[in-house]
Amino acid sequence: MFKINDNFCKLPASYLFSEVAKRLERFRLENPDKTIIRMGIGDVTRPICPAAIEALHRAVDDQASAPSFHGYGPEQGYAFLRERIAEIDFKARGVEIATDEIFVSDGAKSDTGNIGDILALTDKVAVTDPVYPVYVDTNVMAGRAGTLQPDGCWSGIEYLPCTLANGFVPALPKGNPDVIYLCYPNNPTGTTLTRSQLKEWVDYALAHGALILFDAAYEAYITEDDVPHSIFEIPGARRCAIEFRSFSKTAGFTGLRCGYTVVPHELTGLDAEGRPVELNRLWNRRQCTKFNGASYVIQRAAEALYSPEGRRQVAETVGYYMRNASLLLDGLRSRGIEAVGGVNSPYVWLKTPGGMGSWEFFDKLLHECCVAGTPGVGFGPSGEGYFRLTAFNTHQATLEAVERINNLK
Ligand code: PLP
Repeated sequence: MFKINDNFCKLPASYLFSEVAKRLERFRLENPDKTIIRMGIGDVTRPICPAAIEALHRAVDDQASAPSFHGYGPEQGYAFLRERIAEIDFKARGVEIATDEIFVSDGAKSDTGNIGDILALTDKVAVTDPVYPVYVDTNVMAGRAGTLQPDGCWSGIEYLPCTLANGFVPALPKGNPDVIYLCYPNNPTGTTLTRSQLKEWVDYALAHGALILFDAAYEAYITEDDVPHSIFEIPGARRCAIEFRSFSKTAGFTGLRCGYTVVPHELTGLDAEGRPVELNRLWNRRQCTKFNGASYVIQRAAEALYSPEGRRQVAETVGYYMRNASLLLDGLRSRGIEAVGGVNSPYVWLKTPGGMGSWEFFDKLLHECCVAGTPGVGFGPSGEGYFRLTAFNTHQATLEAVERINNLK
């Protein structure tokens, strides 16, 4: 009889969102006359901008006639999109990235989850805590995580707590990890690292031979000058980092699916004999074997985001969410609740008042204000006592939620 990958059985059921849904449903049944304002949504709600929609229509028409039809495309992405990315996302910020260092994909979740394919199973992993669950769960699936401990941590993973006590700036690792996941602007805390803080991580990785997997899915939300948009703005990062980007939260592509990953040529890891091997070559081989490219139609839509109208329209949408974020942040603070994020990120992360547990606060907010958010503990042990609200609802709903939270007893 065939055997399964036992590591999948080690994974606990995805408790967070199913438990949130269960509690919301119970509340709805018991309070049919009340309207819940959902401030837990991690998905965008604004429609895709006109520039991308027009490009989608044109690309669909291309597929309707033989001369302009596109079948299998390059696994790494079409040159028309990779060139725009290199030019506008990087060169315009003073960062030189070659087009063959850019791999277009169907999103950052796939790439952050799949990148482990090209890394040794013996590599030790570190994550910030709380954390986007994909980094941890995909390492559990691969067999790098060890066993789940009663405190909610995996024995084989080093957790780097990010709390009010350290200003949400993780301390450098102590366990000499080989692979470090960093996500900035951060989901779920909404916090960032300044240029000099990120430089410490790059210097650490270079000194210790570690690889930084840098998830910049929320880069478009950065408003402060001292916050780097790319890890490659930091000298030396080309020798120690891979960066992941996404059009999901930038341009509402959560349903269309498109993102990209940058793997610089200078980045090498050691093979079993201790010889250096280019990761760009390995990722290219991995993608060519397991991935057949993001669709032509979607890549044309992504290309349109880089046109002057596309960029203006994307900025407008991001601005819409960011007005919500600042409403939320100001509202919470004026109520005396400690909160971070919301300045360079669509997420606001608050300390639950009176030392309440994350779930206790979830119930209180739901029952007293009819506002739903996400309990911080669902993102990792250091999220206990914290709570995430998102800026992805409408202005009106956000204003109403803030008003209701102001009346919290
Ligand atoms: N990375 C982070 C930190 C996220 O929060 C998300 C989505 O919520 C993703 C990646 C997924 O991005 P994509 O839609 O491109 O797969």
